[in-house]
Amino acid sequence: MSRQKGTKPAGLYIHIPFCQSKCGYCSFVMTTRGRGDDQLRLSLLEAIELELIHQLNRYGISQNLQTLYIGGGTPSQLSAAEIDFLFHIIKKHLPSTQWQEITFECNPEDISKRPEIINQLNKHEVSRLSVGIQSMSPKGLSVLDRLAHREQINELTKWLPKEFSGSLSYDFILAWPEQDLAELLKYDIAFLESNQCQHISSYLLNIEEKTKIYHSLKKGRIESCSEDISTSIWLKWQSCLKELDYEHYEISNFCKKGHFSLHNTLTWRGFEYLGVGPGAVSQIGNVRWSNSGRLSYYMDKLKAKKSPVQSAEYLTTEIQWQEALMLGLRHREGLSMPDYHHKHNLNISKILSQDFQELCAKGFLSICQENVKFTEEGWLFFDDIITDLMLKLENSKIM
Ligand code: SF4
Repeated sequence: MSRQKGTKPAGLYIHIPFCQSKCGYCSFVMTTRGRGDDQLRLSLLEAIELELIHQLNRYGISQNLQTLYIGGGTPSQLSAAEIDFLFHIIKKHLPSTQWQEITFECNPEDISKRPEIINQLNKHEVSRLSVGIQSMSPKGLSVLDRLAHREQINELTKWLPKEFSGSLSYDFILAWPEQDLAELLKYDIAFLESNQCQHISSYLLNIEEKTKIYHSLKKGRIESCSEDISTSIWLKWQSCLKELDYEHYEISNFCKKGHFSLHNTLTWRGFEYLGVGPGAVSQIGNVRWSNSGRLSYYMDKLKAKKSPVQSAEYLTTEIQWQEALMLGLRHREGLSMPDYHHKHNLNISKILSQDFQELCAKGFLSICQENVKFTEEGWLFFDDIITDLMLKLENSKIM
């Protein structure tokens, strides 16, 4: 595929699937097989290099890559020497001067046990550290089956801002079974009042089948968070973060001025991204594909000079307008209706005019200078509203 070099920004994602144990809510591509198996971790890094070389040659995307995101799984399961090796691989094929942002995901207990990891991240100019806190409540950490305990996280987050040279992003999960407003205020909000970071990602817990939490709920061992409580938690969360000077710039993300995630923003705006590693997803041109999440399969294929891709889809014009609508409305800036019309040949201000009026009257949407966006309350019902709007657009195309 030939492309004009350096004109369009793109992101590189590297998936490190290793985890110490499986969290109660986890449905991601992960494995605990890397624990104590130095050879397996090394083999994965070697397979990642093979895939990276192949994909960079194939797509000629090297000079467009501006953001690097190392996620998982848990990248902080790698030792300091393995992190060094991973950056050595990346630097061999991509000059470090091209990165506008480098993000590395970690779990608190790994950094507490092996603080030397932070020196490696500083040395390799990692600019964002994304820390999986998830909850500061002892009950929350237990329900979610997290390994870190509250005191450990408190200690770490006092130390981290002094030692890590980039910015910090903390992940939280809200509305876990049996969470209530009092728990949120006592633990999570109180923590953020005394431990400020530059960025927060937060998600209402989505309970997937085959997870431990799903089975515990089914067996009645724990009770799910009711819709009313989950709504009050969400509204309180966003209003407290606003008071703490965080901008709610995307449905699940908050940041201090200027500290938004560039990598994720490029993805949300439809720019290309290359994903390497087991289970990683890539989108280049009008094609999106996913690697197999099975570690041995992934490594064996690459060793045999074969593709580890498991599935691919062509992004039809229909998928493109659907995703542009959804991703645009997830963002604080919303969607410019004339731009959308121009790009997707769909006049949403006309086709959805009645829906928009009704949603504005309910306080779920606002329209200003031909720009439509969700309100804080509207974002609570995002999935239902967006499904309705898409159906309406779909029908208007058929008629
Ligand atoms: S750390 Fe993340 S990927 Fe690993 S088990 Fe927990 S939720 Fe899953």
